[in-house]
Amino acid sequence: MRQVHHFIDGEHHQTPDARKHDIWNPSTGEVQAQVSLGDSALLDRAVATAKKVQGEWATTNPQKRARVMFAFKELIEANMQELAELLSSEHGKVVDDAKGDVQRGLEVIEYACGIPQVSKGEHTLGAGTGIDVYSMRQPIGIGAGITPFNFPAMIPMWMFGMAIAAGNAFILKPSERDPSVPVRLAELFMEAGAPKGLLQVVHGDKEMVDAILDHPDIAGVSFVGSSDIAHYVYRRGADNGKRVQAMGGAKNHGIVMPDADLDMVVNDLAGAAFGSAGERCMALPVVVPVGADTAERLKDKLIPAIEKLRIGVSNDPDAHYGPVVTPEHKARIEKWIDTAENEGSEVVVDGRGFSLQGHEKGFFVGPTLLDHVTTDMESYKEEIFGPVLQIVRADDFEHAVRLPSEHQYGNGVAIFTRNGHAAREFAARVDVGMVGINVPIPVPVSYHTFGGWKRSAFGDTNQYGTEGLKFWTKVKTVTQRWPDGASDLGGDGSNAFLIPTL
Ligand code: NAD
Repeated sequence: MRQVHHFIDGEHHQTPDARKHDIWNPSTGEVQAQVSLGDSALLDRAVATAKKVQGEWATTNPQKRARVMFAFKELIEANMQELAELLSSEHGKVVDDAKGDVQRGLEVIEYACGIPQVSKGEHTLGAGTGIDVYSMRQPIGIGAGITPFNFPAMIPMWMFGMAIAAGNAFILKPSERDPSVPVRLAELFMEAGAPKGLLQVVHGDKEMVDAILDHPDIAGVSFVGSSDIAHYVYRRGADNGKRVQAMGGAKNHGIVMPDADLDMVVNDLAGAAFGSAGERCMALPVVVPVGADTAERLKDKLIPAIEKLRIGVSNDPDAHYGPVVTPEHKARIEKWIDTAENEGSEVVVDGRGFSLQGHEKGFFVGPTLLDHVTTDMESYKEEIFGPVLQIVRADDFEHAVRLPSEHQYGNGVAIFTRNGHAAREFAARVDVGMVGINVPIPVPVSYHTFGGWKRSAFGDTNQYGTEGLKFWTKVKTVTQRWPDGASDLGGDGSNAFLIPTL
């Protein structure tokens, strides 16, 4: 059976006696590979390597660091098909979607190519008589990233793209469910000219995560995953004096105003609620029609659109979406549909018990539409992370603003309307981090920044863009005065040991 190894000091590092985790092929329902799970001794080895290379990398001028990013970008483009197929075979998302996963990560690498421009500091000439003040951004040293299964290319690149361009060494701990693409990215990064050991991949579960959080030489940890674990990572990392950003779960709402273009909404919802089998933190699993008439008109159009969705194996070019990631996740999603039904939701389209002919062992869940969902239901409060769309009916605009604002998660939200004033009011008032106006999945482009609010993110710095740069660097501010003549220090009548008044 294929084995996935750690990638340490530029080599595949085998640990035959280590604990192993099975990697499924979700389309066939068979185990296709195994990944070794690492421990603190293995992490020590990676950190020692990272320490050796980081100092020289930090003093490599930013233009040369950018050249490695440019070469990496070209290698990703050249290997796009291979990366997408590998990703799709372990995750279950269809190949085109997997290309999107790689592409959105690549866009952060493109942004990181501009590191000479974006990392320039600030300067004030003449802050006092003969006094200048300037600030510089210096790398934090060794950064680590702990990533979820659902974007095994994009999210690692969000993190290591910015961290490494800024002068850090990086240790990635990807999800043990689909770890092959992250290793392949590390190989390509070295091929692009990065020194051995600058980007390393260690695999593992909680044991490795705890080792990262406790390691005294890791200065910063970026985490993306579910909220309870994000909160835990945030607390334990911060307790150990690290900077930590920890992105969590989501339950994004799509508000449909009475004047919305319903054909556009239905088309957008088909992709945003069911694409990638709903396993996206920016999916739209809740739709909020405003007014009873809007709800009925929307439902009439939604049902046939949902029934037309084609579910297929992940390399079926005509499939809208593929299987979910593991058998446990399939069971969990179906259990949530049971719960929703028991809580009083109407199951309008039922995806439970779906089986794909010829692939009966695959982890497929049919598209599901639930109506009359209310805010007291557990199935509304929690993240389902599957191809399940819940309709929560709002009485009016004010009610529609309140629903996402009062939800425990605050990652993304969308409003569909033709009314600019309503959209503007909504964007200004809603208590959510990323807003789409007639855009169903408002993942910001790489030169803006990604981050949710409330239980969708712990810590105060977003992913990528200038926020990412801030996270992976520490600022140093220099206040300088150059007396006229080096030997005259203090000779102008002032006391050189006093803090000068600016
Ligand atoms: P997860 O929380 O199960 O796993 C994330 C990472 O944490 C993995 O690397 C995993 O190995 C590690 N981990 C698992 N259990 C752990 C434990 N007990 N202690 C310490 N570490 C542990 O998440 P997932 O199922 O891989 O991914 C889906 C979740 O990620 C969803 O909740 C989704 O909303 C969220 N997500 C959020 C964003 C965002 O930007 N907000 C983006 C993508 C995914």
